[in-house]
Formats: sequence, C-alpha cells, structure tokens
Amino acid sequence: MRIFFLCYFLFSINGLSAQSSSILVDTHNDFLYKSLDSGYAFDKDLRGITHTDLDRLRAGGVKLQFFSVFCDGEKVSPYRYAMTAMDTLEAVIKRNPGKMVLIKNSRELKNAIRQGKLAAVYGVEGGHMMENDLSKLQTMYDRGTRYMTLTWNNSTDWASSAFDERFKKDIAHKGLTDFGKQVVRKMNELGMMVDVSHLGETSFWDVIATTVKPVIASHSSVYAFSPHQRNLKDEQILAIARNGGVIQVNFYSGFLDSSYERKKSAFFNDHKKEVDSLTSARVPDYLVEAFLFLKYPEEVSQMRPPLSLLIDHIDYIKNLAGIDHVGLGSDFDGIESAPLGLNDVTSYPLIAAALKERGYSRKELAKVLGGNLLRVWRENEKR
Ligand SMILES: [Zn+2]
Repeated sequence: MRIFFLCYFLFSINGLSAQSSSILVDTHNDFLYKSLDSGYAFDKDLRGITHTDLDRLRAGGVKLQFFSVFCDGEKVSPYRYAMTAMDTLEAVIKRNPGKMVLIKNSRELKNAIRQGKLAAVYGVEGGHMMENDLSKLQTMYDRGTRYMTLTWNNSTDWASSAFDERFKKDIAHKGLTDFGKQVVRKMNELGMMVDVSHLGETSFWDVIATTVKPVIASHSSVYAFSPHQRNLKDEQILAIARNGGVIQVNFYSGFLDSSYERKKSAFFNDHKKEVDSLTSARVPDYLVEAFLFLKYPEEVSQMRPPLSLLIDHIDYIKNLAGIDHVGLGSDFDGIESAPLGLNDVTSYPLIAAALKERGYSRKELAKVLGGNLLRVWRENEKR
C-alpha cells in the first residue's frame, strides 16, 4: 500500500512539472450550486465533503475556473438564483483578494497568473436562467458570464435539450426557434461563448448553422465510447472542429464508461432493502444515492473506470478532429463518480502525467490543458 502511495505521489509530481508550462483551465465546476444548496463556503477547508475549495483548486494548479451558474427550471426565478450565485462567489473573492479574482476578458488572465491568483469566470448552465429575456442575458454577461449552455436537461421555449429530444414524446419544438437563433447571435455579438453541452442534436445543428463564432462543449465526452445522450457523436465532434471550437471532456464515469450505469443499477439492487426503506421515508433520490455512496466506499470505488479511459476520450477527439479541439471540463461537484485517482480538484496533475505518458508533447499538453479553450475565448471576444 505504501509503495502504491509513493508511486501515486511521484506520478502526481511528474504531472505538476508537465503541467507547469501550461495554463490549466477547467470549464465546468458545479461548486456554486452545491454551496447554495448546502451552505458550504468556498474559502473553507472542505476536504472529504466536496471536490472543490479555493485552496485545493490552487494546489491542483488550476489557473482559470469557469464556475457553473445553475439551478433547475423549477425555481421561481432562475435568473434571481443566478444573481445570488454570483453574489456568493463575489463575497468569497472580496474576502480573499490575494488568492482569487473575477476576470472579464482573456487578457486579464495574464495578470491574475502573474499575481498568483485563481481567475474565475461564470458559465451559465441552461438557457432557462435568462428567462427568455435578452436584457437578462446582457446583465449576466456584464457580471462576467463568458459562456452559456443553451439548455440543461430541460428544454427552453426556444431550444430543445438532449434529454428531451431522446426521451420526450410530445416535445413542443425541436431545434432552435427564431428567438433561439437570436440568442445565439446576441451571444456572438457580446463575445459570450455558445455552449452546446446538454443540447439536443437538432438544436446542435441549428447552432452550427447560425453561429459566426467558434462554439464550445463545456462538459461533454465521446459518444463512440458511451452512447449517452449527453455525449457527442463523431459528426458533431467534426462539426465543432470545422467551426474552430473545442470539446472539453467531462470526467463523469457514466459518460466515460458505457458499463457504469449497469454497475450502478447492480449496486442499488444489492442494497435494495435500504433504498426501499429510505424511499418510503420520503428521502429524495439524490440523497438516497449520496447516503449509500458514503456508506459503501469500497463498492463505489470498484465501479470507477481507470484514468486511462478519460485519456482515451481525449485521444479519440485528438485523432478524429485534431489536437486543437479538445480540453477539460471536469464537472467536479456535479458528478458522484470520476475515474480512479481523480478524487478532487487537486488531481489535475495526474491527467497531465497520463497525457505525457501517452506521448503528448509539451505543446500538445498546453493545448489540451487550456490553450485551446483560450483560443476559442479570444476568437469570441473579437468584434
Ligand atoms: Zn451539466
């Protein structure tokens, strides 16, 4: 066991040095939602509780973090919720001016890095957050939002989601409506990246036909490995590459490994008695899941895919579409399982080390770890 930890430690050190000549960018972290839901403060030591906190993000070498601003469509005012989420992060920044800064354009990143600060921006998750109102989109931009996924799992009045396109029988409309196209054009004009993660295929192709700027998929993986509606098919990956955009690979075990959902069902089946008992006591499903995951860590750990599978997804995009179109969009604190070793935001050096071992040059590494995303951001900023 001791040798295992020593190897792990050395691998991580190797990764930190490989990572050091790159600007590490992660495009999707759900900490804000988790913190508003549970009252966690970002600048506290949350080891063992969340994937993310301020000091661990810095220890993991992250230079730029896109903080997901999200609530499901059930809230009375998703827009109000978004404003509160932003207020919460800004309060943390105010308390920690030496450690963290909110940036509003890609040029400000250099300063932040020079001063040793974590740079933060917002990524709004779900077009429902702007409540069909372009002036609200504008305000979210003014406050530092630099991408928005046009949908979450729920469709908006103007764009259909991957979930609804696959599962909903009486879907009101498929693809983008005229207003949906207007949203895309407005985002292009503002310099807010259009994010196709969570989007249905019909909407995806409408976006590709409408946008005049490169798009991102902030947290999506490869359909060829795991045919989940949230993953991207080869022709979508190629279209994003032709558009000059980037796919930021999601770390969720269920998106990476096609056998994960089956293993998870078997796990819940093995503990059916407890599940039934909790459910009959009206404990919500997500808490039942969290409770059982905490209670049986050994079994949960056995369901996790190897880190090499995440590298396979990255490699697949590189081989299909080119090294300029792939990056990292962890989804930390929005997922219950990630590949072995990726336990929290301090684990990024393991990815750098594994890519290096796979033969990635320093230049290629720098593109995957953040360079590609920064190129797309700069392209979006051009007037
Ligand atoms: Zn998501």
